Amino acid sequence: MISTTAVDAYIEKNSRRFVDELKELCSFPSISNHGRDAIQPARDWLADRLSRYTDRVETLEAGGMPALYAEVKGAGRRKLLLYEHYDVQPVDPIDLWASPPFEPAETDGRIVARGVADDKADVMARIHALETLKSLGEVPVTLRFLIEGEEEIGSKTFEKIAHDHADKLRADGCLWESGSSFDDAGRPTLQFGCRGLVYVTLRVKMLDFDQHSGWASIYPSAAMYLIGALASLRDQDMNIKIDGFYDKVVKPTEADRRMMAAIDPEIEKRRKLVG
Ligand SMILES: [Zn+2]
Repeated sequence: MISTTAVDAYIEKNSRRFVDELKELCSFPSISNHGRDAIQPARDWLADRLSRYTDRVETLEAGGMPALYAEVKGAGRRKLLLYEHYDVQPVDPIDLWASPPFEPAETDGRIVARGVADDKADVMARIHALETLKSLGEVPVTLRFLIEGEEEIGSKTFEKIAHDHADKLRADGCLWESGSSFDDAGRPTLQFGCRGLVYVTLRVKMLDFDQHSGWASIYPSAAMYLIGALASLRDQDMNIKIDGFYDKVVKPTEADRRMMAAIDPEIEKRRKLVG
């Protein structure tokens, strides 16, 4: 097993180069909103970088922006999927930038560039972690890299890519992007679990045309029916009342509850933020 001291020393020795490589990736204007040609140079650069530590880097595509995939065999049986994306948001309004968005600048120990936090720092941190482990010994678990190219434009073909390559992406756990925030005490945070999103459009139609309010005691009100329907989604304790909603939810274990209780939810900070 590789010691954390050896890992720290390796990172210390190579940190300047790690930062320079991140800046190099940030210099590619990989704005997915600008089309396939705009993002290819960043993808090619990343594929080359990944190929130094993996046997084969594959391009997965389903008609949209291609994703990169690479697997690194580990010593143990477990597999960890690492999701990131190499595309970035557009830079408008450009006048508000203090430095050119694709010329990474270092200010007060921070890198300023479009997409550095979302999500190129995660991409490079994970590749650098892989480099570190490989240089010092064995990778403990099998790593599966999946680096998407269209996250910032709604991942239009991502679902198809995921279905088409389900076997490659199967893993015991997945480390998503955005693992790079700090709490008020300056501790790095790791988020567990993400909620999904469900969009629903509800339409209620009761009458063929508008009626004078004087008829309110006779005619049914679509607005009131809709309010009733919305209010029925939750009970007073905020439990969701939709049938089957919780069926597939994995219940927290005692250990999960203990861990949750030990986390500072930073209530005051949130209160200040939202008023
Ligand atoms: Zn992102």
